[in-house]
Amino acid sequence: MGKHKFKTEVSQLLDLIIHSLYSHREIFLRELVSNASDALDKLRYLTLTDDDYKGLPFVPRVDVSFSQGGEGGEGGDGKILTVADSGIGMSEKELTENLGTIARSGTRRFLDELTKSKDGGGADTNLIGQFGVGFYSAFMVADRVEVLTKRAGESGAWRWSSDGRGQYEVAEAERDGVGTTVTLFLNEDGGEYASQWQIEAIVKKYSNHIAYPIYLHTTEPQGDTDQSDGKETKDGKEKVEQINAASALWTRPKSELSEEDYVEFYNGLGHGDEEEPPLHYVHTRAEGTLEYTTLFYIPAKAPPDLYYADYRPGVKLYVKRVFITDDEKELLPTYLRFVRGVIDSEDLPLNVSREILQQNRTLAAIRSASVKKLLGELQTLTNNHERYDAFIEQYGRPLKEGLYQDFANRDALLELVRFRSTEQEGLTSLAGYVERMKEDQKAIYYITGERSANLAASPLLEVYRSQGLEVLIMDDEIDAFVIPSVGKYQDHELKSVNRTDTADDLGTEQSKEKAKEIGPLLRRIRGVLGDQVKDVKASARLSDSPSCVVADESDPTASMQAVLKAMGQDAGEFKPVLEINPSHAIVEKLRDTDDDDVIADAGHLLLEQAMLIEGVALSDPVAFAQRLNRFMSRALS
Ligand code: ADP
Ligand code: MG
Repeated sequence: MGKHKFKTEVSQLLDLIIHSLYSHREIFLRELVSNASDALDKLRYLTLTDDDYKGLPFVPRVDVSFSQGGEGGEGGDGKILTVADSGIGMSEKELTENLGTIARSGTRRFLDELTKSKDGGGADTNLIGQFGVGFYSAFMVADRVEVLTKRAGESGAWRWSSDGRGQYEVAEAERDGVGTTVTLFLNEDGGEYASQWQIEAIVKKYSNHIAYPIYLHTTEPQGDTDQSDGKETKDGKEKVEQINAASALWTRPKSELSEEDYVEFYNGLGHGDEEEPPLHYVHTRAEGTLEYTTLFYIPAKAPPDLYYADYRPGVKLYVKRVFITDDEKELLPTYLRFVRGVIDSEDLPLNVSREILQQNRTLAAIRSASVKKLLGELQTLTNNHERYDAFIEQYGRPLKEGLYQDFANRDALLELVRFRSTEQEGLTSLAGYVERMKEDQKAIYYITGERSANLAASPLLEVYRSQGLEVLIMDDEIDAFVIPSVGKYQDHELKSVNRTDTADDLGTEQSKEKAKEIGPLLRRIRGVLGDQVKDVKASARLSDSPSCVVADESDPTASMQAVLKAMGQDAGEFKPVLEINPSHAIVEKLRDTDDDDVIADAGHLLLEQAMLIEGVALSDPVAFAQRLNRFMSRALS
């Protein structure tokens, strides 16, 4: 009872709040609602677990009301906003402990940070609540705050009141039923919150999924209502409306939830016009060293901004059912950016700042467990071919990004990615390929480039086809960049057929003999092409085509370079290696000719046709046409 001085830190904090915090003032309502919800949580717990409380009625609700004032108040023209709950309430002792001191250990640091951020251009309101001082944010919008509270199990009620300047008062009071009513006498800046529209918007934004119903009390002005209705009072008619969903669906046990519930919640997540039910969802509750709940959805259709750098993240972070953010890309790795849903942590502080979030260990642990969970779910989904194909069609590409983004989960991801192949109708997994491998097969072969139809007919595949070796067709731009970094699947090397060294182990004795015979021809073509190529070699991989281009060991392939150029990146000065088929009729004839002009045209044409097949535009198409025409007139004469 009586007057009390705030503890030093509280005074300092209030000073900062009153004088320096202007941004995001609306969060005061989130903090008060969150406290109400906590108080309800506590009472619920006691009525469920403690014999002294088991007989008490528990009718959980939060009531928000406001009045436009006009009765001659202070700065805010007497505007008032109240948040009342039927929660546990506070005893006199608790009142002075909770609302007169700051019990947390991090207060000093918090004050430092708050002061620091003030100097650096405007204090960050988002730091509030992070250190368990959310209640005091009420002083951002109020000149005076009153807390009327009655502790469950006690008969007396107490009124705490303060203007936030140094001291507070506690006096005996009356209250119907247990719980707490916080009354804000709004200041000039806070006046705007005495509005139905504002309150509804803020509650929807931050507290929609508080587990308890939030009711908004409004008064319909006189005259708007039916004149014949005799229940009107001088001030109009009071209306009470629930303004939050109060579902907190993810906090309910899985066993209580139907598929319909999940789909309904998914539709309420609000991410475009989702007519279709999600492709998949997974609801997880962790109760160990870390306590959290996740509810993830995979949309049936990829979000339209999937490939934009400024995509909107789809996972919302809650702390103890209080909405924290829906704009945090770090909640999941970027390759899982298509996932929608909720992470709700019991261990994070409310209103953690972005900087803190990004280096927070708890969140890192939740994130890594969530990734494992999601990848595990996808692995299970592979058993449902139809669904998994649909998944791959939408998300096969981001999944491949994971191969170079997420080394820790690479093995799991390698089981999930799918590719076209020379031997399969649909898509194949790497595991499927390995199962079909020949006994003495040395590697997993793949070809990269554009358009699978072109690739399937590529001359690079000739030797593999003739030897009955399956080749994976990697026609997605990203493949050529990602797959080389993978290197191996299980114990099998992944070898690109677009590279110089790959075919060496496939050549037959006969082709090696033949290769020796064209040594002089190769030298002459090398001379003709000069620095357009890195080398000219005899090929062991061709049977029907006279030539092909491949990339030297670690150089980007020709089509990769084209992609890099298209993206405006410097592809470097990598030149292809031209391979010539020693057994081809054209080559055999060239071997015997002395005509330098023929060799010059033929050398260029062998390179140019190989480049065209690779999907690379020629740098000098006119010269190409002239050479072709010279050859045609020779053939026709
Ligand atoms: P936090 O909620 O993180 O503990 P706050 O500054 O928001 O920090 O609140 C301080 C404390 O005041 C709470 O821990 C709680 O004990 C008490 N309190 C605040 N609001 C209420 C309420 N509506 N009912 C019961 N206790 C409350
Ligand atoms: Mg709080």
